[in-house]
Amino acid sequence: MASSIRTLNPATGKIEKEFQAYTSEEINQYIDDANELYQTWRFESFEERKAVMKRVANEMRKQKARLAALITAEMGKPLYESEIEIDYSANIIEYYADNAEEFLANVPLQTEKGDAYVVSEPIGVLLGVMPWNFPFSQIARFAGPHIMAGNTVVLKTASNIPQCGIAFEEMFTASGAPKGLYKNLLMSGKDTDAIISNPKIVGVSLTGSEAAGSQVASLAGQLIKPSVLELGGSDPMIVLNDADIEKVMSGTINGRLRNAGQACTSSKRIIVQEGIYDEYLNRITDYVNGMKVGDPTQADTNMGPVSSESALEKLLDQINDSANKGATIVSGGKRINRDGFFLQPTILTDLKPGMKAYDEEVFGPVVCIWKVKDIEEAIKIANDTPYGLGASIYTEDVPNAEKIARRIESGMVYVNKQVSSSPDLPFGGVKHSGYGRELSKAGIMEFINKKLIMIA
Ligand code: NAP
Repeated sequence: MASSIRTLNPATGKIEKEFQAYTSEEINQYIDDANELYQTWRFESFEERKAVMKRVANEMRKQKARLAALITAEMGKPLYESEIEIDYSANIIEYYADNAEEFLANVPLQTEKGDAYVVSEPIGVLLGVMPWNFPFSQIARFAGPHIMAGNTVVLKTASNIPQCGIAFEEMFTASGAPKGLYKNLLMSGKDTDAIISNPKIVGVSLTGSEAAGSQVASLAGQLIKPSVLELGGSDPMIVLNDADIEKVMSGTINGRLRNAGQACTSSKRIIVQEGIYDEYLNRITDYVNGMKVGDPTQADTNMGPVSSESALEKLLDQINDSANKGATIVSGGKRINRDGFFLQPTILTDLKPGMKAYDEEVFGPVVCIWKVKDIEEAIKIANDTPYGLGASIYTEDVPNAEKIARRIESGMVYVNKQVSSSPDLPFGGVKHSGYGRELSKAGIMEFINKKLIMIA
C-alpha cells in the first residue's frame, strides 16, 4: 500500500519520495533514549546547552540552500520565502541559546515565612506535533526553547513534509548533539495517542487544526499532562479611513498572500471603512491581477501552489459556496489549468454569515473584504469568529488604534503592520485558536516546573 508519509510535490503533483512509518517498538525506543538523556541533560550547564544549540543554528545556516529546496519541494512556497524561513529558524534557536539562562533565573520572593525563591526546572520528554505550512520555523519555536530549558524532545511533523522533518534532525546529528536530545518520528498524526499515553512523555505541544488540537489535548488532559495548542485563525485586518494606503497594501501582500495565504495569522478577513474602500479595492485588484503564480523555484514567482489537492478542493468549495449564496468574485476564483495544485489569487466581497468564506478559516490565497461604515461595525465583524489568534489595525491615529486593540478578542494585535512572528515577541491565541504561548520568555515557561524553595 502507498505510504501516506511522502513528498508529493504540490507544484508538479508528482510523488517524489515515500517513507515507512516507524514501528511502535522503534518509537518507544526513541522515547526511552530521550528519557535516558533527560536524566543528565536536565543538569547540564546553560553554557553546554548553548554550545550545542549554537552549533545547530550554524549548521542550519550552512545548509540553507539544501533545506530551503526541501521546503519548496514538499509544500510549494517560493524558494526565497523558504530561505527566509531557514534564517528565521536559526535565529529562534540562537535567541533561546543566548537568553534561556536569564529567562530561567531564580526568582526571589518577598514573604514573612523565611527565605523563599522559585527555581525553573525542566519536566522531561516532550512531544511536539507540528504542521506543514512553516516546516522549519514551527519546529524551531518548539525545540529551541524547551531543549534550552533542559527538556528533551520527540517531534512528529506533518506527513506531507517528511524530508523536512528528517533534515531538522540531521542538524542535531551534524552538530554532535547527544543521542536522545531531538528525535524526528516518522508516523501518522492519527497514531499519536500511543505516544501521549507513554508515561515517559510528560507534555505535548501541537500546532495545527482545531480537530487535531482537540483530540491531542483531550487525551493529555485525561492523563494530566500539560499541553500547548496553537490552532487555526481567522484574523481580522481593520482599515480605517485615515490609514496610510501604502502600509495597507504592504500588510495585505505580506499578511494575506505570502505563503499562498497558508498562515495561521494570515489576514483572513479584511474590514475596510467606506471612505478608503474603493481606493483599496482598486489597488489590491490591480496587484492580484498582476501576480506571477507558478513554479516556486523561479526567482520571479510571487506565489506557488497550495499544499495539496484536498486543500485546493476545499478552497474552491469555500469560494463557490459563497458565490452561490451572493458573494462577489472580484478576481480569480478558479483552479489554474496546469499540473500541481494552483489556485488563482482570488478576491471576494459581499460576504455574509452562512457563507463558507465567512464562517470558516480560509487557508489559501483568497482576499476576503468587507465594507463597513464605522469602527463599531468593524469591531463587531472582527470579533464575529470562533477564532482569536491575531488582528491588525491600520490608522494614522495610533491612540485610537490602541483603544480598538483592547476591544479585539485575540492573542495579538499589530498596528500598521501585518501580524508576524519574532523570537522576542509572544505568539498565541484565545478562543478556538488555542492556549499557551510560543516565543519570547513566555514560550520557554510553558513546560517548566516553577518550583518553590522555602527556607524557614
Ligand atoms: P493538521 O491537519 O491538524 O496537522 C497538523 C499536525 O497534526 C500534523 O503533524 C498532523 O499529522 C497532526 N495531526 C492531524 N490529525 C491529528 C490527530 N487527530 N491527532 C494528532 N495529531 C494529528 O493541520 P494542518 O492542515 O497541517 O495545518 C493547518 C492548520 O494549522 C491551520 O488551521 C492553521 O491555521 C494552523 N496553524 C496554526 C499555527 C499557530 O501558531 N496558531 C501555525 C501554523 C498553522 P499528519 O500530517 O500525519 O496528519
